[in-house]
Amino acid sequence: MTYVITQGCCNDASCISVCPVQCIRPRPGDPDFTTAEQLYIDPATCIDCAACMDECPVNAIEADYDLPAHLGEYLAINEEYFEDNPITDTSPVAAIRHKLPADRPELRVAVVGTGPAACYAIGELSATAGVAVSVFERLPTPFGLLRSGVAPDHASTKLIGEQFRGILARKSVTCFFNVEVGRDISVDELLEHHHAVIWAGGAAGDKTLGIEGEDLPGSHSAREFVAWYNGHPDHATDQFDLSGERVVVLGNGNVALDVARALTRPVAVFERSDMADHAIAALRGSQVTEVVVAARRGPGQVASTTAELLALTQLEGVDLVARPEEVDADPTPHADTAGAVAIAARKNAILTTASRRTPNDTNRRIAMRFLMIPRSINGTDRVESITFDRAEITAGDDGLPVVRATGEEETIETGLVLRAIGYRSTPVAGLPYSDLTGTIPHQGGRVLDPEAGATMTGVYCTGWVKRGASGVIGTNKADSVETVVSLIEDFAAGQLRDPAGDAETLKALVAERSPDHLDNAGWLRINQAERSAGSAEKRPRVKFVSVEQMLAASRTTG
Ligand code: NAP
Repeated sequence: MTYVITQGCCNDASCISVCPVQCIRPRPGDPDFTTAEQLYIDPATCIDCAACMDECPVNAIEADYDLPAHLGEYLAINEEYFEDNPITDTSPVAAIRHKLPADRPELRVAVVGTGPAACYAIGELSATAGVAVSVFERLPTPFGLLRSGVAPDHASTKLIGEQFRGILARKSVTCFFNVEVGRDISVDELLEHHHAVIWAGGAAGDKTLGIEGEDLPGSHSAREFVAWYNGHPDHATDQFDLSGERVVVLGNGNVALDVARALTRPVAVFERSDMADHAIAALRGSQVTEVVVAARRGPGQVASTTAELLALTQLEGVDLVARPEEVDADPTPHADTAGAVAIAARKNAILTTASRRTPNDTNRRIAMRFLMIPRSINGTDRVESITFDRAEITAGDDGLPVVRATGEEETIETGLVLRAIGYRSTPVAGLPYSDLTGTIPHQGGRVLDPEAGATMTGVYCTGWVKRGASGVIGTNKADSVETVVSLIEDFAAGQLRDPAGDAETLKALVAERSPDHLDNAGWLRINQAERSAGSAEKRPRVKFVSVEQMLAASRTTG
């Protein structure tokens, strides 16, 4: 018998820390840890103790004898990883324990943001004796993309919010919600009250295509669509035209697949989820029957994880389709490591099966298209169609595939284009920013001022603003640990300035600048109100979608 890691693995490695035989890979520090699609259990080494299953924050681990039918492939997926990565070292990974120097026993840190990267940083800091953390969040509700990014039909992923809720409730953590750093209080003012500031503001913008028609009405970033259906206050009143039968989604990463599912799954699935009510109502009236997911590269280079692609083949009422000529155009998966070749081969097999299947006429469809480079989005007053340059795959000098336009073009009629080509961080007042990478320049999380050619004293970053928009929720844990290690090293070395202000002067400043700010208890009242409304409808929660509603709930609910 063995345990099996399945769909929804968050990669936070908490399972690894409790495994007595170290049969879960990759581990933090392994070369492929930060890029791994998921973690895997070696069936040959597992001793069936169930410690990992108990520890998993997102319920992604199953016993092989209990593996539900739709997760059946994961036994082979786990086993396959070890064909290329046999376990040679079972000594435990050294746990990182932060410690302040005996002669400097008090450290005050401000963390800006409350998404997963921020929560992992707050968790590391607040678990360290002598560290006090002030948390700043622009909205009255915490958790960033966990609340406004994770798909409503991925309820188990959201379970990690319970861990984060526990972290924010720690005694050494003081929350200031509904306070915008940069508007209500500056980074410099935070530094006057703390030894250090960690910026974990995420990625609030989009990569762009730079093609004609990109900004026509009816062309939106998938980020906006996701924020709309998840009830983010900035996007709750956005409008998406669901009156046409076809939607085109650009890119085939996990965000593209999230929006494709939202547009095609029966609305009954979402009526039991925490999707915002306005989005459920709009989806009830939707005329969409087909979502075309168009990628510029081939089926051997699908950007989504295997788990998310596989899940598309198992949706009730939805057919995953592909064109044999496009899938067959790239029969040999190419990649730079044996593990990546195996993953590409599995995705290719999923698509080959999809390309041979006869779709059910009564089902909605997700059509995976390949070798389509967006050329222009067309329309007079709004989107009417999108034109692609058709592409082919050739082998580059290094043997890896190169995609190049063939000179042919293809136009697809649609009234709605969702650009799922990646999130991008936006510049932050007072902090350096690389336009090239869309990130804050840093060294191990220490913010680097390129003009001064040195790190900025007391300023750190973590998460998507640090490494770009990549990885799943748990990927942020190792990222935040790295930043916290740098910060505590600098503090121990005496490189951080002692703050002039203290906790009381900070509270007074925030109260003056943001009289409507909330503490953690204020957010917990909002949480309680959302959950109560949800339980009446057999849903996890019914979300408030405006700041005013949230503040009212924080005041009136006991
Ligand atoms: P992503 O994985 O980077 O995918 C971006 C897609 O856009 C790729 O297909 C990429 O194609 C394409 N693209 C980029 N620039 C393009 C251009 N100029 N023209 C045409 N296509 C272009 O990004 P994402 O889907 O936004 O996801 C971001 C991160 O969040 C990922 O790490 C993802 O795994 C994670 N996430 C995870 C989940 C989950 O676990 N369920 C859900 C949502 C997001 P190329 O491959 O050719 O560059």
